[in-house]
Amino acid sequence: MLSTMQDGNLSIANLLRHGSVAHAASEIVTWTGADARRSTFAEVGRNSARLANALRGLGVTGDQRVGTFMWNNAEHMVAYCAIPSMGAVLHTLNIRLFPDQLVYIANHAEDRVILVDGTLGPMLAKHLPSMTTVEHVIVTGGDAGVLEAPHGVEVHSYDELLAAQPDVFDWPDIDERSAAAMCYTSGTTGDPKGVVYSHRSIWLHSMQVCMSDSMRLAQGDTALAIVPMFHAMSWGLPYAALMVGASLVMPDRFLQPGPIAEILAAERPAFAAAVPAIWQGLLQHLEAHPQDISHLREVIIGGSAAPPSLMHAFEERYGVPVLHAWGMTETSPLGSVARPPARTTGRERWAYRYTQGRFPASVRARLVGETGAELPWDNESVGELEVRGPWIAESYYGGADVDPEKFRDGWLRTGDVGTISPDGFLTLTDRTKDVIKSGGEWISSVGLENHVMSHPAVVEAAVIGVPDEKWDERPLVAVVVAEGQQVTAGELREFLTDKVARWQMPEQWTFVDEVPKTSVGKFDKKRLRTSYSQGELDVTRA
Ligand code: AMP
Repeated sequence: MLSTMQDGNLSIANLLRHGSVAHAASEIVTWTGADARRSTFAEVGRNSARLANALRGLGVTGDQRVGTFMWNNAEHMVAYCAIPSMGAVLHTLNIRLFPDQLVYIANHAEDRVILVDGTLGPMLAKHLPSMTTVEHVIVTGGDAGVLEAPHGVEVHSYDELLAAQPDVFDWPDIDERSAAAMCYTSGTTGDPKGVVYSHRSIWLHSMQVCMSDSMRLAQGDTALAIVPMFHAMSWGLPYAALMVGASLVMPDRFLQPGPIAEILAAERPAFAAAVPAIWQGLLQHLEAHPQDISHLREVIIGGSAAPPSLMHAFEERYGVPVLHAWGMTETSPLGSVARPPARTTGRERWAYRYTQGRFPASVRARLVGETGAELPWDNESVGELEVRGPWIAESYYGGADVDPEKFRDGWLRTGDVGTISPDGFLTLTDRTKDVIKSGGEWISSVGLENHVMSHPAVVEAAVIGVPDEKWDERPLVAVVVAEGQQVTAGELREFLTDKVARWQMPEQWTFVDEVPKTSVGKFDKKRLRTSYSQGELDVTRA
C-alpha cells in the first residue's frame, strides 16, 4: 500500500526561501579585522537571487559546476545558497590544497565559473591558465583588477555584476536527489576524490545538525563557524543556520588565535566549531591574554580526535563545555556526536564525552575485522568502521570505478579504526594507515597522543609508527612544548608509566616547534613519516 502523504522535494531553494523570509532578521556577520560587516538573511536571499541571475547571464545552465575559492564570509554564504538553488552545483575549492591538486579538481569537476575573494585573487590567478574549463571569474571585495586572467577567461567584479541584477529569481523545482554541492577529499593514494551531496542529503543532514542530541543549533543562537566552508561544508552549519534562523559569525581570513579571541569578545557567540589545532592555539592565547569566554554555551571539536586535556582545559578553566564529534567529507560530515547518556554523572559522563560519539538514527554503523567479519559492539573488539545512511556517500564523482575499495556492499569504509560500545558510542584509536603494528599487537597512536598531551608542559603530540627490526614498528612521539616550559623525554616516559602498558611505551621522541598540519588542519603524519625517513628529525631515545 502506498501512503497518502504528499511528496515534495527537499531542496536548497526551499531552505533559502524559508530562511530569508521566516528568519529575515538573522544575520551573517563577517569579521573584517577590526570589526564586522553584517547582512541579514533577507539580504542573503536577495543577493542569492542577484547572483543566480548573474550566473544565468554568464551562461550557467543545468547542473554546471560553479567553484568557490573563498574564506568563510557573507559572499560565500550567498554562493552556497544561489548556486544549488538555481540547479547548478556548488564546488568548494580548498584554498590550501597543493597547486597540482587544486588544478586537478577544478578540471575534474569542470568548473565553468569560479567566485574568488579579492584577497585570494592573485593565488588563484597563478593556477587559472591550467584550469581548462573556467570561462569566468567573479571577484568579491570590490576590485576585480587584483586578478590577471589568462586569455579566454573573463573577470568580473562581484559587486558590479550583482548591482545590475534583479533581486528575485524564479527558483526551479529540483529533484531532491540531484547534485547540489561537491567537495573533494584527498585520498590516501591517487588523486583527490569528489563527494557529491544531493539536495536531499543536505536537507536531512541540516535537520540532524539542529537536533538537540547533535549540535543543537537553534533560532536565536549565534554560531562562530571557524570550520572552513571549503572543507566538508563547514560541518553543515550554513544550511542548518538557514533552516532554523541561527546567526553565523564568519571569521573570513582572520583565523589566528588573536583575531579569534577578538571575534569572540565582539560577537559573543553561543557556540563555535573548529578542529583541535584551532582550539589549542586559542587556549594558549587565552593563557597569555585572559578573557571571559563564558558566553560560549558549547565548543564543538571534530575533524581529528579532541584530546581530553583540551576538553578539561576549556571546561575547568573557562567554564565552556566541549562537544566532541566525528565525521568525514564523505559523511556530509556529521557522523557521530558525543553527548553522554542523560543518566550519567562524573567520571562515567566524561568517559562518554571523550569518545567520538553516538551515531544518530539515520547513520548505521558496523565494525569490520581484518578477515572481513563483523565485530561485536562490546567496547573492546577493534575493527574498521563502516557506515551507511542518507547523507553518507555511496561512491565518488565519476562512478563506481573510482576508488571502489572505499565502498563495500553499500557501506562506506571509513578507514577509521576503533571500538563501539554496546550503547553505540564510537571510540577511534586510529586511521587504518596510522595504526602502529608492534610485535603482532596494535598500538593506538591517538591513545598515546592523548596521554602525552595531558602533560601540562605539552601543547601538541603526534605519534607515528617507525620501522623496527625486532618489533616491525615502534611508536615515535613528536612533541611541541608550551612556551616557557621544559620537559625531557625521560620525564614524559615517567609521566606515562601509570597510563600505558609497558610494551606500548615509546622509546623514541622528537621535540619540534610545530606538528605539520594538512590543508584542513589535521596532524600530517605522512609528512612526519617522510621527515623521519629522510633523517630530518632529531630523535632522542629514552
Ligand atoms: P575529512 O574528510 O578530511 O574531514 O577527514 C575525515 C577523517 O578525519 C576521519 O575519517 C577521521 O580519520 C578524522 N576525524 C574526524 N573527526 C574525528 C574525531 N573526532 N576523532 C578522530 N578522528 C576524526
